[in-house]
Amino acid sequence: MPQTTPTLPVYLDYAATTPVDDRVAAVMQRYLTVDQLYANPASRSHMLGWQAEQVVEQARRQVADAIGADPREIVWTSGATEADNLALTGFMRANRERGMHLVTSTIEHKAVVDTAHALEAEGFEVTWITPGGDGRVTPEQLRDAMRDDTALVSLMTVNNELGSVNDIAALADVAHEFGAALHTDAAQAIGRVPLDVGAQDIDLMSLSGHKAYGPKGVGALYVKRHPDIRVEALIHGGGHERGMRSGTLPTHQIAGMGEAFALMVQQGEADQAHIAALGERFLDGLAQLDDVHRNAASEASLPNIINVAFGGVDGESLLMALRDVAVSTGSACNSASVEPSYVLLGVGVPRRLALSSLRFSFGRFTTAADVDHAVGVLQHAVTGLRG
Ligand SMILES: *Cc1c(COP(=O)(O)O)cnc(C)c1O
Repeated sequence: MPQTTPTLPVYLDYAATTPVDDRVAAVMQRYLTVDQLYANPASRSHMLGWQAEQVVEQARRQVADAIGADPREIVWTSGATEADNLALTGFMRANRERGMHLVTSTIEHKAVVDTAHALEAEGFEVTWITPGGDGRVTPEQLRDAMRDDTALVSLMTVNNELGSVNDIAALADVAHEFGAALHTDAAQAIGRVPLDVGAQDIDLMSLSGHKAYGPKGVGALYVKRHPDIRVEALIHGGGHERGMRSGTLPTHQIAGMGEAFALMVQQGEADQAHIAALGERFLDGLAQLDDVHRNAASEASLPNIINVAFGGVDGESLLMALRDVAVSTGSACNSASVEPSYVLLGVGVPRRLALSSLRFSFGRFTTAADVDHAVGVLQHAVTGLRG
């Protein structure tokens, strides 16, 4: 039985979104109101515009520095969803002569999966790799999927439901062997695993502000400066972002993402060490229960995303019983039924267990008390539901 019930739910859903760090919010507040630097960063005719542009360029450098890129390789977007759309659709459309074939995996984020489906409808061909039970795509699997007309490979760095990590450098090598480019969705990776677009030889990388203690509604696509790496714009207008993404730049959002990424460079490793200890504590607590398994567990799983199957317990009922602990099921409800997570099914988790699974994700502000509370509630609820 839980001893105390906190007034706010215990938040263990950091993979869905993170709170904005206070230091980030303080930076964002400088660029909004009438006595602040609210000018349009694209205004060339007055000093306020130039100053706003400098703020945007500093943030561009902060984001570039976090991934070892040149600031000129960063294109601001509305989030990782738009960055994924721009990477896949923009690159495939710009490289028709190179090839009409795209390779990706079945457990990518919907922003990649649904974009790839839209490209199929547009006449492109897609090969869908089924990853291993550990959620990882091997270089051998990728090699088998490659063709002479493969233009692009899109494989995520960290899976948002499983916490599994791909060896992107090794996958990039295979893509390049076949003359294809490599895109990776790194929305969940920043601050959690080392990212270096040079050392890993990455051509396109999607990033998001709000998975890294920055604001929602802002992200970026890294586009390698190389004549072979061109993307066609999806959003047309004033020709911002070197023509790749028009629209007035949201100075406050961008400054916030820059600050959040700079903090990740400083603090990401310490955060992960703190979270790893909490993850151990959580798994130790769950080990008291029978028939509980971490899905897609491997040496390469991150400690901050723990997806757990509770045998013999319906996930939706468990979620109800966990009213004051905020977590995710991967399943999607529609009017007729509850569909299990395509990611869990994609790594071979049986349907029954996929429906019994919850994702717990931890972050910078998670405490040992949060974990202990969640473990207490889970032990009580699982035991009760198994009756
Ligand atoms: C959250 C997330 C996205 C979407 O990012 P937004 O900025 O919310 O559009 C894409 N890919 C992954 C892996 C994510 O975790």
